[in-house]
Amino acid sequence: MTSHITPLVHIARLFALHGLKVTIIAPQHNALLFQSSVDRDRLFLGSNITVRTIQFPSEEVGLPVGIENFIASPSMEIVGKVHYGFILLQKIMEQLIREINPNCIVSDMFFPWTVDLAEELQIPRFSFQPATSIHQCAWVFIREFKPYKNVASDSEKFLIPGLPLDIKMKVSEIEDFLKEETEYTKTVDDVLQAEVRSHGIIHNTCSELEPGVAQLYEKARGVKGWHIGPLALFINKYEAEISSKQISNWYGDCFNWLENQQPNSVLFVCFGSMIRFSDDQLKEMAVGLKAANCPTIWVFREQDNRNGFKELIGEKMFIIQGWAPQLLILKHRAIGGFLTHCGWNSILESLAVGVPLITWPLFSDNFYTDKLLETLGLAIGIGADVWNPGFILSCPPLSGEKIELAVKRLMNNSEESRKIRENAKLMAKKLKSATEEGGSSHSQLIGLIEEIKRCAFKKSS
Ligand code: UDP
Repeated sequence: MTSHITPLVHIARLFALHGLKVTIIAPQHNALLFQSSVDRDRLFLGSNITVRTIQFPSEEVGLPVGIENFIASPSMEIVGKVHYGFILLQKIMEQLIREINPNCIVSDMFFPWTVDLAEELQIPRFSFQPATSIHQCAWVFIREFKPYKNVASDSEKFLIPGLPLDIKMKVSEIEDFLKEETEYTKTVDDVLQAEVRSHGIIHNTCSELEPGVAQLYEKARGVKGWHIGPLALFINKYEAEISSKQISNWYGDCFNWLENQQPNSVLFVCFGSMIRFSDDQLKEMAVGLKAANCPTIWVFREQDNRNGFKELIGEKMFIIQGWAPQLLILKHRAIGGFLTHCGWNSILESLAVGVPLITWPLFSDNFYTDKLLETLGLAIGIGADVWNPGFILSCPPLSGEKIELAVKRLMNNSEESRKIRENAKLMAKKLKSATEEGGSSHSQLIGLIEEIKRCAFKKSS
């Protein structure tokens, strides 16, 4: 998933920029997503960072060459095959890691086996957690205390116990494996067990966004956490101007269109790397966005080119079919709002540049993030309240009227929208300070690098 790959690569690049020697292991086609940034860091910034590619077992799992992640996965069948491919790769990755003989392993949370290998090699393993600390607390506290059992109906809300913030959820908004045993239960258990055997957890979040939650999780689980988000803000500082110029050239039409719009007037609509809407939902969305009558950039996937909903699209819309340069679009002064499914990377990218949100949570951890943003006064909720078990959505479509209403509420100049906009600008300032010298995330990043150096020294002495 890009939502795991991108921040993990940010961590690797940051470590290397701070003097650590880093090796990234990835299948060939996934490596193409970040190879050029890594090469640039090595060439222009002197980073000691390399990518070791491995061959994805495409033939064995029955996938065309090149499909190694969920962006390219239009169906659950393909997702299953990608997942199986990574299971087959475990032995090869273990072998490669033994050969590299590292002083520490930073592993995505969904590779719990790396904790066994780290123990065998007697080196620390850090688990990377790409979502909010609230989500992590929810996984543990909701399963333990079962607060959803105390509500009489699906529309009644319960409080997630133990949190320093009031996060209230409906039963329909939480993951099914929290309420009953599902196929995913074992995966979650493995992740959580590997976590407590790890040296620590690296989080792409910070106390400015989730005051007190990280400390709570540390205490509840007895495992140290380093909160070094938003990672993209650190990386932005190092990114050469040239890369944004290149991308602006590739998406010239989009940026020319943006240049002709008023500041803060454009709504950006993009639902991450995986979500697949039904035809009915795409039609409702086209109707709702058109009726809201606000300049809009709407990103949808290549696969969403079905059943004539495009005829419904309004004149004030700029369409990107395929992959959008989201980071650069969000940075543009014309962008005044972001309609999002609440993928944590998208939220961090938006808040880093002070863009307020319309939240349409759909799957995974989306609903916890939605509630957090509501509590912080950074978003207008669209009114979705059904969690989907996968990114191919099974919930009933949301009406065009609801979409229209939410867009109008954020994009008009009401007292409510002005307040949210102000809060978003203030959060951007706080996040910037957090990643500058002396800021919370900056200090934790330096602390983490020192910790890794200490462990390496212990190993060599
Ligand atoms: N993204 C992008 N262009 C797109 C769609 C997504 O650059 O057209 C990036 C986006 O900037 C973010 C990531 O893909 O970094 C999506 O991650 P997120 O956590 O928001 O959602 P997910 O894909 O996990 O649902």
